[in-house]
Amino acid sequence: MATELVRYGVPVRIIDKAPHRTDKSKALVLWSRTLELLDRGGGAAPFIDAGYKALAVNFIASDKSVGRVSMETIQSPYPYALMLPQSETERLLEERLRGLGVVVERQVELTTFKARGDGVDAVLKHSDGKEESISSDWLLGCDGAHSAVRHGLAAPFAGETMNCDWMLADVHMKGYPCPDSEATVYWHRDGVFVIFPISPGRYRLLADIPASGAPLPPTPTLEQVQAMIDRRGPSGTKVSDPIWLAGFRVNGRKVANYRWGRVFLAGDAAHVHSPAGGQGMNTGMQDAFNLSWKLAMVVRKTSSERLLDSYSPERSAVGDEVLHAAGRLTTIGTLRNPVAQTLRNLVGHVMLGFSTVQHAFADTMSETAIHYSSSPLNGPALKGARPSPGERVVPVEGQTPVGSGNTPLFALFADKNADTLNLVNTFGSILDPDIRPSVRASGIWLVRPDGYVACSSSDPITVADYLRALG
Ligand SMILES: Cc1cc2nc3c(=O)[nH]c(=O)nc-3n(C[C@H](O)[C@H](O)[C@H](O)COP(=O)(O)OP(=O)(O)OC[C@H]3O[C@@H](n4cnc5c(N)ncnc54)[C@H](O)[C@@H]3O)c2cc1C
Repeated sequence: MATELVRYGVPVRIIDKAPHRTDKSKALVLWSRTLELLDRGGGAAPFIDAGYKALAVNFIASDKSVGRVSMETIQSPYPYALMLPQSETERLLEERLRGLGVVVERQVELTTFKARGDGVDAVLKHSDGKEESISSDWLLGCDGAHSAVRHGLAAPFAGETMNCDWMLADVHMKGYPCPDSEATVYWHRDGVFVIFPISPGRYRLLADIPASGAPLPPTPTLEQVQAMIDRRGPSGTKVSDPIWLAGFRVNGRKVANYRWGRVFLAGDAAHVHSPAGGQGMNTGMQDAFNLSWKLAMVVRKTSSERLLDSYSPERSAVGDEVLHAAGRLTTIGTLRNPVAQTLRNLVGHVMLGFSTVQHAFADTMSETAIHYSSSPLNGPALKGARPSPGERVVPVEGQTPVGSGNTPLFALFADKNADTLNLVNTFGSILDPDIRPSVRASGIWLVRPDGYVACSSSDPITVADYLRALG
């Protein structure tokens, strides 16, 4: 959120009560859509250089293959799951921010705040115990699952905690029978067991275990991890040199509203869910990509504040979908009834045999399927022509991504002619002068700074009306 706002010229203070960024691998995957959006703000290359490409997911039950989903069919310049420990993602984001001249203020905690009609008054506590009162125009609560901002708003965090514990192991392992570029989900009769590659020889292992009833989920020992892999995973595999062993519980919770006047919620502060599919951090980052260009346009006075009303409906709908999809995947993997397990394995085998199902699965996981089809921001659509308003325009390798640079600009995908050049001249403060090749002859596609279609038409007046209405 901070890197996007700062590059668009919005001054920020970013505070964190923690003394340093995480040193844990936590969210392990950067998905295609997140990489596309990162590419707009300084390039996806540093993340790709630091990460490891996973190209497929295998599903196995009773030692037999149920199916395999390849990521290589994803329509994106990044058709893979980029395995990158969260500690590295945070490091690279912090470096990007530092390059923009902003340093994260650590050991500074937001304790209370009060929202006004035109801003927010807050109290910050520093590490020496000193309190500081500040006033700002906006408050963005990106403060995680236990969000002080969400508590301060008394925003309900509706949902539930799953009745089981999970073990997580970030370990070295020998004997993994699949290519190191592939993840594997084992549907065992005791529960699910998942192996993700992190880098050659290093893996993330996950398994559900019966609820311990203890206040905190137990941390597994390396011996317990080995016993788990011997029972549910591939035979002949040996784990060693643990980097991180942890227990956790799965919550599925979400706020209904992401915007409360001058206060916004994003990331885990707004939604938490099962790690199935590795969507948590990616969805949170995409909340930030969605809000930042809108807020920047409002702060720069190139749009009215009404633009911000679209943030909550757009991102809350995505949050609902991610919550349902992650919940469904978790339920399917943790079925206990043997009849239901047999049925799951049979249906899974049949379904994953269809390439359309494989593609749909990969598109959903990679978050390239995300769209804002019901957004209040959607304008008119050119009949029968895709992408429709709210849908993503697939970035083209080698083409400057829409939304790059230091000004939040819409872009035209259209034929270069007197009409479209006139649009660019008339709306220079919000329209990229670089007109990209048209999606279809004699059609004009107006695309938002986050790469989703705003409207499409064959009539330049329709596009002009849309742009004028933003002001
Ligand atoms: C064990 C585990 C495994 C996970 N695995 C995955 C995975 O495989 N894939 C995936 O996508 N996600 C995974 N996640 C989830 C992922 O880590 C989160 O979705 C992600 O970190 C959320 O980012 P965030 O910035 O919203 O919140 P956080 O990362 O929680 O960051 C919030 C920040 O706010 C700070 N803060 C909190 N309160 C205050 C305050 N009052 N004042 C100032 N600062 C404050 C905190 O110190 C923290 O630095 C996992 C999480 C855990 C714990």
